[in-house]
Amino acid sequence: MLDDPRSHGVWERTAPPAPETAPLAGSTSADVVIVGGGYTGLSAALHLAEAGVKAILLEAVEIGFGGAGRNVGLINGGMWTMPAELPGVLGPVYGERLLDTLGKAPLLVRELVEKHDIACQIEKNGTLHLAVGKGGLEEIRERCQQWSGRGADVEVLSAEETARRVGSSAYAGSLLDRRAGTLQPLAYARGLAKAAIAAGATIHTGSAVVSTERDGGRWLVKTANGSVSAGWIVVASEFYSTGPWEMVRNEQVLLPYFNFATAPLPEDIRRKILPGREGCWDTKEILSSFRMDQAGRLVFGSVGALRNTGLAIHRAWAKRSLRRIFPELGDIAFETEWYGHIGMTSNALPRFHRFAPNVVGFSGYNGRGIAPGTVIGSILSRHILGKVEEADLPLPVTDVKRIPLRNLKGAYYEAGAQITHLVGERF
Ligand SMILES: Cc1cc2nc3c(=O)[nH]c(=O)nc-3n(C[C@H](O)[C@H](O)[C@H](O)COP(=O)(O)OP(=O)(O)OC[C@H]3O[C@@H](n4cnc5c(N)ncnc54)[C@H](O)[C@@H]3O)c2cc1C
Repeated sequence: MLDDPRSHGVWERTAPPAPETAPLAGSTSADVVIVGGGYTGLSAALHLAEAGVKAILLEAVEIGFGGAGRNVGLINGGMWTMPAELPGVLGPVYGERLLDTLGKAPLLVRELVEKHDIACQIEKNGTLHLAVGKGGLEEIRERCQQWSGRGADVEVLSAEETARRVGSSAYAGSLLDRRAGTLQPLAYARGLAKAAIAAGATIHTGSAVVSTERDGGRWLVKTANGSVSAGWIVVASEFYSTGPWEMVRNEQVLLPYFNFATAPLPEDIRRKILPGREGCWDTKEILSSFRMDQAGRLVFGSVGALRNTGLAIHRAWAKRSLRRIFPELGDIAFETEWYGHIGMTSNALPRFHRFAPNVVGFSGYNGRGIAPGTVIGSILSRHILGKVEEADLPLPVTDVKRIPLRNLKGAYYEAGAQITHLVGERF
């Protein structure tokens, strides 16, 4: 997008076309304006339109321009945080509620894909959280115990079973999460957009919201060439926010994350590497992730930005690592490479903000937004419809709190990933 081959990589090349949309021009009105065309905004638009509410979604660039079109495509059930920590951080009510909401979120993704016949390469064989060494094994065992205690369909697999599923003996075991899976992230976003339009929502792309003003009991939401008068505003612009809600970035530290995709692998190799197409990531602090797309491309990623010195360092590391994990790949070439920005909050959990009367939004998915964004969009729609009280949302209202030294911390992540990938790590 925006003629940048390193923004959306293989997803842009292989996604079905986006539905036809045009920039907002002139003035109009709606019940709800949604700001941002990622999973949160699109899911909110879809669910509101299905309930008969007039919803207009304004997207600054294109559908899926933010995280939704750049990510790995792992549909996760939960956050990074250990489940048992959430009640401690959020209190017992919100902690358990958020866990329950996020745990069920992958199911909603599956249901929406099926209901709206979204062609997004969805795979339902689960994810494998790969244990690196003894410490990794202890971590996934603990995670498994905590999730199983909450009824989640998870299981620790032995090193042998992991090797059989992954096609590599590099791991000490893995946590299989059968709730989870993978999809083509941009195709999913475009499919949600198509479904939302079919349900009656209007989507304007190339329509960055630049300002808002109070207009009696309503809001006037302005873009460069138009305005919408609406009763509610859903802020779903997340880490890629520009304009009036750019401040949500202040409570997130930038964590860059890159991916490299091979060309479709030969049939014999595809029979060995991830024949079940589970999505994978490992327990290292600077983690790696990999998954297959439907055509048999291996998508391999880790922390870092493909810019300046990072480009050559991370590319060389990715080649080395793949050769180490899957020796049969040899000196593999990459067809596409891209990176995006994940926003990490101070406690690795999302936030709910009521920015002003009838102006609400969730943000801070910490690199876990496919299922959470989808479910939160639907919950926000029910909140606006009056079916879920503010006190019954999965998170309490908080103010946007700037993270001290956030730019420095972001630079540290980027430099740290380069150093690790240059010298500190064999795979
Ligand atoms: C490299 C990478 C890998 C990731 N991997 C995974 C993964 O494997 N699994 C997972 O679950 N999550 C993953 N994530 C996180 C996930 O992509 C995000 O959490 C998710 O996209 C959030 O969805 P969203 O709709 O809230 O925001 P986004 O998808 O970021 O969408 C926000 C949209 O708002 C628009 N916008 C911003 N400002 C304005 C404005 N003023 N007016 C109008 N529109 C505006 C932006 O252009 C953007 O399109 C990853 C993210 C990245 C970057």
